[in-house]
Amino acid sequence: MTPSPNEALYELCGFARVACEADLVMALEVDDAGRASPVASSPPHDFSSFNLTRSGLFDIEWSAIPDAANKYRLPTAVVHALPEMPTSLLFVPAPVEHAPRSGLLLLWTRAPSPAPLIEHVRLLASSVASTLAARREAVRQVAMRDQFNDLLESVPSGIVLFDGDGQSAMINERAAALLACRPGSHRSSELAAPMRALRERCANHAELETAYAAQVGNVHYAATQHWVLGERTYEVDTHPVSGDGQHGRIWLFTDVTAELRIAAKLRGLAQSDPLTGLPNRRHFEEQAAQILTAAVAAEHTVALLMVDVDHFKQINDTHGHPVGDAVLKAVAGRCSDVLRDGDLFARFGGEEFIGLLTITTEHEAAVIAERLRNAIAYTPVLIGQLAITVSVSVGAATTRMMSATSGEVLESLIESADAALYRAKQNGRNRVTIA
Ligand code: GH3
Ligand code: MG
Ligand code: MG
Repeated sequence: MTPSPNEALYELCGFARVACEADLVMALEVDDAGRASPVASSPPHDFSSFNLTRSGLFDIEWSAIPDAANKYRLPTAVVHALPEMPTSLLFVPAPVEHAPRSGLLLLWTRAPSPAPLIEHVRLLASSVASTLAARREAVRQVAMRDQFNDLLESVPSGIVLFDGDGQSAMINERAAALLACRPGSHRSSELAAPMRALRERCANHAELETAYAAQVGNVHYAATQHWVLGERTYEVDTHPVSGDGQHGRIWLFTDVTAELRIAAKLRGLAQSDPLTGLPNRRHFEEQAAQILTAAVAAEHTVALLMVDVDHFKQINDTHGHPVGDAVLKAVAGRCSDVLRDGDLFARFGGEEFIGLLTITTEHEAAVIAERLRNAIAYTPVLIGQLAITVSVSVGAATTRMMSATSGEVLESLIESADAALYRAKQNGRNRVTIA
């Protein structure tokens, strides 16, 4: 096995110590500013970094000839690593790109004899330089891998990465928790079953199967789907990643439960009337468009009802605004109870409500409107100790939805129902008028 750059540097120091009969040999990585990191030594020692700026080592042109040690200022740690005070030293410069003052430091406690061979020294210099460069690259790669691993674990998503070689796969801790297997490297084939099992556990399993089945064999496939797992929903993004040769693939699982809940809540708030909880006017218009489109397709008849509380201003004036609010809630509740599930009933504004229903006969509109009127007028609304007699007037308009029905049908239905409502008011209130 090839030694790692660090092992190679220890071997080089050892070789230099034997070849030159030195007492201590150190490989030093030294930057421009003279900061030195001892990366290997023989005999091995644990040196921490030191500064060689004023050591004098960089002030002369070194050849293969050792010099008197007392001319240089060596770090005490280095001196203490020797059995006696050093008498001679030799610095073999081994400049590398990132550390131009690097080199090999050889120390003797007795003057070396014979002096080291210049060929040995040259060879050492070039070996040290190339090994220091290799070591730097190895350190950089480890740092990059660590950084990549940190990143994998710090993103708030489960990650499953299938390598382009089709053999290996990698999953981070979040993905491991979802797939009920251990994090780290796996054979690609080992992950197929847990991935399938996870998908099968989803409430929307059938829909996902259809979506993914359509893409089997398509290496360029990219998609985002929601996987509904019990209480939680994951946004699952998959797309190809370029690997060596073939195509790799990444799967990202992001828990979007909280976001979806907030979005649903906001949507609900934007669509409903805060007092009665009924759909508001804008939501009514959106929903009405859908109901009308469906009615056209089925050639159904629809009825639009406008419901307005009679003399509501008087209720406010007599009992106060909060009681008026309570009456509006009661009216909304009673009307909703009378209507069927598929009927659309909304607060149109103030003390006015609007309903859109699909019916089979025009007569049905009158029956339902009468039921609404009766639901309010039949029993007084009880608020605390108060029993308030309330009534509503209803204007209704109906139309058979045909493919030729114009886009403004809603507007014209509202207009007709409103006119009918006006007549109901004129004729004494608490009554239904059909347009
Ligand atoms: P009519 O029988 O002709 O419909 O008479 P009305 O008094 O019901 O009609 P009018 O339009 O004169 O008055 C409606 C009142 O409803 C006026 C307004 O202050 C009140 N109102 C509108 N929105 C609310 C609300 O949210 N809460 C309360 N308490 N009152 C409201
Ligand atoms: Mg009114
Ligand atoms: Mg009104």
